[in-house]
Amino acid sequence: MENFNFYAPTSIHFGKGEIKELTKIISEIGKNVLLVYGGGSIKVNGIYDEVYQLLPDSDFTITELAGVEPNPRIDTVRKGAELCHEHDIDVVLAVGGGSTIDCSKAIAAAYYYEGDPWDFTQDRSLVQKALPLVTVLTMAATGSEMNMGSVLTNPETNEKLSTGGVAMIPRASILDPEYTYTVSKWQTAAGSADITSHLLESYFSQNTEAVVQDRMAEGIMKTVIKYAPIALNKPDDYEARSNLMWSSSLALNGLTRAGKKGTWSCHAIEHELSAYYDITHGIGLAIITPRWMLHVLNDQTVTKFVEYAENVWGIDSNGKDAFDVAKEGIQALYDAFVSWEIPMTLPEVGIDKEKIRLMSEKAVEHSTLATTAYVPLTADDVEEILLNCF
Ligand code: NAP
Ligand code: FE
Repeated sequence: MENFNFYAPTSIHFGKGEIKELTKIISEIGKNVLLVYGGGSIKVNGIYDEVYQLLPDSDFTITELAGVEPNPRIDTVRKGAELCHEHDIDVVLAVGGGSTIDCSKAIAAAYYYEGDPWDFTQDRSLVQKALPLVTVLTMAATGSEMNMGSVLTNPETNEKLSTGGVAMIPRASILDPEYTYTVSKWQTAAGSADITSHLLESYFSQNTEAVVQDRMAEGIMKTVIKYAPIALNKPDDYEARSNLMWSSSLALNGLTRAGKKGTWSCHAIEHELSAYYDITHGIGLAIITPRWMLHVLNDQTVTKFVEYAENVWGIDSNGKDAFDVAKEGIQALYDAFVSWEIPMTLPEVGIDKEKIRLMSEKAVEHSTLATTAYVPLTADDVEEILLNCF
């Protein structure tokens, strides 16, 4: 196991009605609030009104930044940082999914940074200080509610890059599973695929002796496999929504990644698809992941794939060829994504072959895929993986 520092200081308020804590959480920080949200789902499902009831005019001044895009754009970050200066903001309140939270993280850090916030994606050490951030999570997917990461898109350069820093970790996050009842089937499936991918990206790493991390990851993966279909069929199933929501946070708060090394392969590739085609992150990951698995399955990795097949999918390997068992595990994941009604080819999400080579080269250029991935990948490898998604 690698040495590591595990630091997950976000205060989590989990469960029905936990929004009631918002007044206390915010008032302990300040009174000038930047409320950041997306395209309006929080107005439809009533969360917006609840926030205003809990932060009344008499005690708080709310400035709004609405319209954060899925795959949040750097221009929105710039706009948010300007609002923070204009209105003397004390605390950023993100109400939404990963896009809203990621955008808010960058706004909070941009407030203290003299240069352009896109610089954060080029050099994480520039993320030094940030305004306090509080989040109200409305969909289970990214884990952004409990981690230091932020993924930003620059549509002018077709780049989607991540950044992060300790200063960006939310101070408190409110996780009410009932808030996720209105999440569409598409986004529920995408979020569940994203959670699964966060676990798999570290599960398949060069470290073979980080056992406790992998047993936890398997447990969370099995939870998602059990509850995603239930939430898809019955959107207001509290047991399903609550287990998915906590899985989202635990899958990417460092718990299963600590002590492991290696570049995340599927995320590096997916970010290029989103950068050029603005597709839903989790859907892109679902399409790529089984193809990536087949590509990296070899004599060195087969034992780990057998472990995955046995422990996550309950596949009996007795008397079978290891490669057959590994492939059964990969097929089980593929079939699960199909059963969640995820389109499993790139043309179905509007991607043709025109930019495949370019995206493959960019994936390698923008990451350390070629050197430190579980199985190092060249642009040719990425291209082959992507062509297998047609
Ligand atoms: P999202 O992009 O935040 O939201 C997707 C869609 O779901 C939006 O249209 C949103 O509508 C809607 N939505 C959210 N909550 C809803 C609710 N309760 N009811 C109805 N609709 C709802 O989705 P996400 O998957 O959470 O975030 C994706 C982004 O996070 C990507 O950019 C991805 O790269 C990034 N990401 C970050 C991390 C990290 O660690 N920071 C990890 C993985 C991925 P509204 O806009 O109208 O609210
Ligand atoms: Fe992700």
